[in-house]
Amino acid sequence: MLLNLTVLPGDGIGPEVTAEAVRVLQAVAGKYSHQLQLTTQPIGGAALDATAGDHPDALPQETIAACLASSAVLLGAVGDPKFDANPPAQRPEAGLLRLRKALGAYANLRPAICFPSLAYASPLRAELVAGTDILIVRELLSGIYFGQPRHTEGQSPHRIAVDTMRYTEFEVERIARVAFDLARLRQKKLLSVDKANVLDSSRLWRSVVTRISADYPDVTLAHQYVDSCAMLLAAKPTQFDVILTENMFGDILSDLAGAVVGSLGLLASASIGGPVGLYEPVHGSAPDIAGKGIANPLGAILSAAMLLRHSFRLEAEAVAIESAVQQVLESGARTGDLAQPGEIARTTQQMGQQIAHAVTQR
Ligand code: NAD
Repeated sequence: MLLNLTVLPGDGIGPEVTAEAVRVLQAVAGKYSHQLQLTTQPIGGAALDATAGDHPDALPQETIAACLASSAVLLGAVGDPKFDANPPAQRPEAGLLRLRKALGAYANLRPAICFPSLAYASPLRAELVAGTDILIVRELLSGIYFGQPRHTEGQSPHRIAVDTMRYTEFEVERIARVAFDLARLRQKKLLSVDKANVLDSSRLWRSVVTRISADYPDVTLAHQYVDSCAMLLAAKPTQFDVILTENMFGDILSDLAGAVVGSLGLLASASIGGPVGLYEPVHGSAPDIAGKGIANPLGAILSAAMLLRHSFRLEAEAVAIESAVQQVLESGARTGDLAQPGEIARTTQQMGQQIAHAVTQR
């Protein structure tokens, strides 16, 4: 198969971790006889630097065009403190927000998996978190982050600010179908999270999800309020399979689930639903460790596994990467963020090389 990808390394540790994800993809392509075709383009601060002058742009037209011409996009991270004083539209992060919109990705997938050998890294007791394997499916293009009206009016101390949580049946139905389809490939347990005891938008959400469930009789659907879900995520994380929720609740719950299973450097994500999927680690550009060769590349590498699974339906190849990560962690290899006192930390490159090697040996 031709794997036609655009790679957007971005800023800070982004280039370091994407280089290792690409190394692992090359190993997979070699082993399973796929042809990897890569186009690399700037985004974020790197793009602002490349277009410096009259029209600095964190998402140049060539970058959008390359992404739309490929089958999937692998992104590192954006963000550079040297642009902190720029107006919002000329900050690195603006490039990523525009890219997500341009790709029309309305479904954000955030797995939270506790690797057995890393259960100690959780802030929770290891026996509570061991076995956790959650997939959060978050609606990404609607809800309170986009709803109109939104404004602030009046003068201090009498200002009033308004945001609007708005959903259409169409928006709920399309994300619900993504979640039901994914639940079918897992434990067939779907939990839809809302605040239907208070919010109209949640009552609509619940009724649409319930209606769609008739098309998925093999999937067990349950509903839960977001406050109670947050409590259970921290108290009994192993009881969840797939969680479906709206934009803001998903934003908060996915960070909570990520913290429950341990290091930020391990977390992967996919944004799908549009013509081209976007895959990126959850962490940012980590300027404090950029250029030192010590960043954890596993979030980027696991994002590459999601890319193979969701954009190319290459399940065996995705599992090969995930199993290689697990095997390398079980062998005791750790980057600095995960190493315990007395353990020798691997560099970003060493970790990537070990995982690429483990893929070829499987
Ligand atoms: P961050 O995720 O970059 O870093 C938070 C902390 O975690 C830092 O101490 C960092 O060293 C550590 N860390 C993060 N990733 C790591 C990895 N792979 N290996 C080892 N340690 C890792 O978040 P921040 O410091 O709040 O933000 C830094 C910049 O990144 C900002 O400009 C922010 O806007 C941007 N950001 C971008 C994204 C994105 O591109 N999706 C996401 C979050 C933040």
